[in-house]
Amino acid sequence: MNLRLGPEYERFRDELRAFLRESWPLRGEEAALPCDQRERLFRERALARGYLYRDIPRAYGGSEQPSDVLKDSILAEELAAAGAPGNIRNIGPAMLAPTLIEFGTDEQKRRFVPPTLRGEMLWCQGYSEPGAGSDLASLQSRAVLEGDHWIVTGHKVWTSSAHEAHCMFGLFRTEPDAPKHAGISYLLLDMKAPGVTVRPLRQMTGGAEFNEVFLDEVRVPAGNIVGQRGEGWKVSRATLKHERNLIGDPQLLRKMFDGVVALARRTLRDGRPAIACDDVRQRLAELEGYFWSQQYSGLRQLTAAARGQELKVMLPIMMNKLYSTDLMQRLTSLAYELLGDTGLVMPSPEEAGMALLPDAPGSWTAQYMFAIANSIAGGASNIQRNIIGERGLGLPRDLRPR
Ligand SMILES: Cc1cc2nc3c(=O)[nH]c(=O)nc-3n(C[C@H](O)[C@H](O)[C@H](O)COP(=O)(O)OP(=O)(O)OC[C@H]3O[C@@H](n4cnc5c(N)ncnc54)[C@H](O)[C@@H]3O)c2cc1C
Repeated sequence: MNLRLGPEYERFRDELRAFLRESWPLRGEEAALPCDQRERLFRERALARGYLYRDIPRAYGGSEQPSDVLKDSILAEELAAAGAPGNIRNIGPAMLAPTLIEFGTDEQKRRFVPPTLRGEMLWCQGYSEPGAGSDLASLQSRAVLEGDHWIVTGHKVWTSSAHEAHCMFGLFRTEPDAPKHAGISYLLLDMKAPGVTVRPLRQMTGGAEFNEVFLDEVRVPAGNIVGQRGEGWKVSRATLKHERNLIGDPQLLRKMFDGVVALARRTLRDGRPAIACDDVRQRLAELEGYFWSQQYSGLRQLTAAARGQELKVMLPIMMNKLYSTDLMQRLTSLAYELLGDTGLVMPSPEEAGMALLPDAPGSWTAQYMFAIANSIAGGASNIQRNIIGERGLGLPRDLRPR
């Protein structure tokens, strides 16, 4: 197996490393700036060098570089290794922006994409409803066109970040007489518009990152539809593809795996695990096997993509999401056992944040709980297994409710 990428890519990696050594962390007076300003400055410089938002045209705030999956992969590795801010990996830049590039009008791209990439326009995703999760196409929130506005009424749930979002991209039933998948449109709505009410949902981590959103005759300009009327399902598949990519992040798995090994070392006393844990070494070795099989599967996908080979589009993404979230559960379960009684302490607000802080015990407790949530968010594991089995392996279709 040859894991070398060749001279062109090694040169790219060297140039990138030199840039990172010079540019991150910021130095002198700039080092004293607040964190968000430091990150913004770095991103502006990295963008100017063509290192960020490479597949987004300059007119819409990206760096418009020729498509190159190997360079993308080097960038992800090196930015993570330097601890430098990369592309903002949250709902707006990672999910909505590429969807708008694919399906939006020129006006929508100019208006929404640049502030979204800069992190100035925050988004939430209004898909799930109390009666529509895995069976999303059953959604009932509706939009009726009256003159030059859609009038939107309904109830969304599990809406991550709705309490801080400026806007929502969501799915609404606009053609009540059409078959269920064909009657849905994809709309962009202002979260400050009259008729929008956000209620937080408290999670077991203690945080409240997601919410219920009630929509009561909210007026949405007619031009805020993405794609054609009744074609929202097709547009939503593009967003979902990017969401599943976001959840199956190989850099996070690497950090998590290294963190569990370090935690096991820290909790060893007299060469033996401090807690009753079957056989920590054995379990770590097993997890390492899973970890590397996931990494090598990623490399196979990268090789195929670099060679321009056609992969069944959604399948690797689903496998990555399923496998990564499963592995996260196994890794964090072991970490949680290693913590012993410390794991019973409620994480502090800082530890309960989404980022893994490998040295903070409470952060492992929070990650243990997030790992369960991650296997549900963006499509539950059972659903991923069904689709992989049916579309990937050609197994008979699961029973569908009438
Ligand atoms: C952390 C987190 C963040 C989220 N953020 C958002 C967000 O920002 N916006 C948004 O719109 N939604 C969001 N969601 C919601 C998420 O998309 C749904 O929770 C998910 O699609 C599952 O739907 P449900 O919760 O209604 O569960 P259900 O669909 O009721 O499923 C319950 C259980 O039944 C199983 N099941 C259901 N159907 C089948 C079947 N056909 N075959 C086998 N098993 C089946 C599922 O696997 C699951 O175990 C978020 C969820 C989480 C956990």
